[in-house]
Parts: sequence; structure tokens; C-alpha cells
Amino acid sequence: MQATIGCPHNKCSFCMVYKRGPRFAVRPVAEIVADLDQAREELGPGVRAIFLPAGDSLAMPTEQLEAVCRAAGERFPDLERITTYASVRSILGHGREGLARLRAAGLSRLHLGLESGHDPTLDRVKKGCHGADQVAAGRMALEAGLELNLYVLLGLAGPEDSRDHARATVQVINAINQAGAPTIRLRTLVPKVDTLLLHQIRKGRFTLCTPHQILDETAELIAGLHGPLDLTSDHYTNYLDLAGGLPRDRDRLLEEIRAARRLPRRAFRPDFVGEQ
Ligand code: SF4
Repeated sequence: MQATIGCPHNKCSFCMVYKRGPRFAVRPVAEIVADLDQAREELGPGVRAIFLPAGDSLAMPTEQLEAVCRAAGERFPDLERITTYASVRSILGHGREGLARLRAAGLSRLHLGLESGHDPTLDRVKKGCHGADQVAAGRMALEAGLELNLYVLLGLAGPEDSRDHARATVQVINAINQAGAPTIRLRTLVPKVDTLLLHQIRKGRFTLCTPHQILDETAELIAGLHGPLDLTSDHYTNYLDLAGGLPRDRDRLLEEIRAARRLPRRAFRPDFVGEQ
């Protein structure tokens, strides 16, 4: 259900999604409700999950997003989940009270791209926030009763800062984890067309990690996360699929990484420039 269009930040150096537009816009509530009516007509009342796409639909003003969630619940009585992408800024912008209102209206799950908890890396990629902001936002979302999926971008700091990137990210996630159990989703940096990061690579200003360096970074993360939380690495960008709960599956996951670490470079996907 398209509630917003584009991304209100649109500055991350590794992201191509909205670099050529469209500009960020919030759709009028009446239009979104008309779409919900059409969905009800076409799909019937049995819809159980709604996803709000675009870069950060949590950036909608609280009362407008609340109205959309309530309208969805009225049209779909079996609705179990409303999920949206979010940002540190949009979470903090709603504040505790706003998030509680959204949760009560039916919003249930946020996808939040941390990418890293390492401030120099966050600055370099123009993420627009620091680790302390991530901790505040993540804790606030969990304390409001929202489920939280946190995305980590392996390789984002390059080989030199790889260990600092992993350790700072561990610190941020462990601090968030004190307020509840997020789900961690791993992605690996793939340079994309039309991005500043690809330009930096071509100018020799940034170096991609090798698969083995990415595996070391993954092991550093998994070794440091306290849990309880679930972690998955299940994306086409990743060199190794992993899934498990921490701390329960830590030893198995680290053994899977060690086994992959023994494979030669040719056993892993090639470097490529992403076009999607
Ligand atoms: S990574 Fe997310 S926040 Fe950053 S520009 Fe892309 S859509 Fe926007």
C-alpha cells in the first residue's frame, strides 16, 4: 500500500533507489483510503498483512499514518501486521507518544537500515545519523511495542575499518537489545550504478572487502552480539546464508563461517555492479 513516495533523506552514498527520483512525497490520506477500499473490493476482507513500501513511510505525520492504519484495520478485520520502512529520524520524530499511538492504530513492524553503528562510516556514507541516535530510536520503537528488523551492511567500511565497523555495530545492537529483541538482517555491500560510492571505488578512494574479509566481519558481529535475538543472512548480496538465534546458535554459526572461510575465492559470487 503506497503511503509515501521516494525517500525523505535520499543522500546515502551506496543507495541508488531514488537518486533519479521521484522526490519524496506523502500521499493524501483520502487517496490511500481509496486504495484500501479498492483492495478490499478486489481481495475481500481476509487480508492479513499490509506493507507500506518506499524509503521511509514512517516519515508521514503521526495523525495521517494513524488514520491510514485505522482505516486498514476497519476494512480488514483479520489484519495481523502492518509493516513499514523507517529511519532513525522518523522514529525519533514521532516520539514515544506518537509511536504508542501508531502501535495502537495497528502499525506493528519497522524495517530500519542501521547499515553500521560506526560513526566515521555513517558520516562517510552520509547516512544522516550516528550510533547514539540509532540506540535511542531502536529502544524507543521496541519500548512502544513495535517489532524491529535491523539491517546491517557488511563491507560498508571497507577492509581497513572492517573490525571497527563490526564492533561499533555490535555495541549499538546490544544497547538496543536491552529494550527488546530485534531481528538482525545482514546484507553485503554491492556497489550500485548512479551512486557516489561507485564513483569513489572507480577513483580508488574506496576498496571493497573480499569475501573472506566479509566472513571475518560477520564472525566479529556474531561473536559480539549478546541476544536474545534472531539473525539471518539470506540475501543475494551475501556470500554465505546463515540463520539462527543468539546466543543459542552462536557456536554453530561461527563454525559455518569458519568452514566457508576455508573455501577459495572462486567458491563465492563474483564482484558486480548492482543495477536494481
Ligand atoms: S538507503 Fe534508505 S535512507 Fe538511504 S537514501 Fe536509500 S532509501 Fe533513503
